[in-house]
Amino acid sequence: MIDSHCHIAGPEFAADLDAVIERARGARLAHVMVILAADDEPELAQADEVSGRWPDARFSVGVHPHAAGKFAEDPPAAAAQVDAAIAKQPLTRAVGEIGLDYHYDFAPRHAQQHLFREQIRLARRRRLPIVIHTREAEDDTFAILGEESAGDVGGVFHCFTGDRDMARRALDAGFHISLAGIVTFPRAVELHEVARIVPLTRLLIETDSPFLAPVPHRGTRNEPAHVVHVAERIAGLRGETPETIAAAALENFQRLFKP
Ligand SMILES: [Zn+2]
Ligand SMILES: [Zn+2]
Repeated sequence: MIDSHCHIAGPEFAADLDAVIERARGARLAHVMVILAADDEPELAQADEVSGRWPDARFSVGVHPHAAGKFAEDPPAAAAQVDAAIAKQPLTRAVGEIGLDYHYDFAPRHAQQHLFREQIRLARRRRLPIVIHTREAEDDTFAILGEESAGDVGGVFHCFTGDRDMARRALDAGFHISLAGIVTFPRAVELHEVARIVPLTRLLIETDSPFLAPVPHRGTRNEPAHVVHVAERIAGLRGETPETIAAAALENFQRLFKP
């Protein structure tokens, strides 16, 4: 089992990190990808606490589109900050999460786009895959991925919430699709369709902890151990065993991130 995306170096886990990691290991998670925000010093520092307790944890560093406003005057400075954080954290295996979020629009769209491009360029220089966050920005996301040749490094659409057509587009562009706890929600019918069509060789699973706790933990703080519910639900939708889903996700994680 793996959790391809979580934020356990964040303040929500500072008080009981040991217990969270113990439960994750109890759930037989072989690896976890911990997302770090390059513009968040405490989180970058906490990464060493995580890896000290859990040597199989790996890291992905980026500046989230929500924070693009801070760097609107100088997006290359954001990429430089990511680069510096990667240099300091030897267990970094990806650049992210990066992308576009037009749902919240916390930052001007042109600033988000520029920041996304700069970080794809960095990922290409560093030869690291990217972890993509995209919401209500499908066309611009694919345009930028294409123009910046992001397919050269590959990566994953994390917490995928698109429809079947978007899934096909992501797969055709060479990317992986990671499903989070939303797939366990009864009303997520479109996502259930996606769960059925993603080839096992391109599927990843995640919690996005502390957000998006799956059924039966909805409304509580999410944690990596809960990824088992995501695997179970996908297995049910596909008529496969949870073990098959977990094994495929682990293999994909290893191939993509070379942990
Ligand atoms: Zn995200
Ligand atoms: Zn996230």
